[in-house]
Amino acid sequence: MRTLLALLFAVAFLALVALALSPDPAADAQDSGAMASANTATRERPERFVDPPVGDRVAFSARQWRGRLTPTEFHVLREEGTERAYSGAFHANHAPGLYRCAGCGAPLFTSTDKFDSHTGWPSYTRPVAPGRVATRSDSSLGTLRTEVHCARCGGHLGHIFPDGPLPTGQRYCINAASLDFEPQPSL
Ligand SMILES: [Zn+2]
Repeated sequence: MRTLLALLFAVAFLALVALALSPDPAADAQDSGAMASANTATRERPERFVDPPVGDRVAFSARQWRGRLTPTEFHVLREEGTERAYSGAFHANHAPGLYRCAGCGAPLFTSTDKFDSHTGWPSYTRPVAPGRVATRSDSSLGTLRTEVHCARCGGHLGHIFPDGPLPTGQRYCINAASLDFEPQPSL
């Protein structure tokens, strides 16, 4: 009798183990769904949501930047490329929010200072705060222009032209590829 009981316990135990090890179709479906969304999601850089202090600097090698950026972002930010007009994501974005550097996450511009320049590039009258961007002279196209870049990581953003609307009269003509948008309904 004792042997029979032991045998029954053993069979029950084995049945439980088999149940625990058997694949769960629902769980599998969830896993593959999560993987699919991870594959299509844009790259995640959590540090961008922590505002670095003005004056903070970051530096990476070209190889490291290539690992952190998409090819388009790398071309614009690190090779001073210019995206085609109307090809970027933000020239017609009128949602309230913060525009961050796609390279380092530093806050650069807000929707409050954005205006429709009809140029095909997102345009702003000023940066979110003094010291967030820096400028230098650029004569690469044969005319003297003012280049603007992220003060934190040195990433090229675009150019500044003196034909913007009030209150500054400046037009910060920015490549959308150099920006990430963070919706902020309160703005
Ligand atoms: Zn940056």
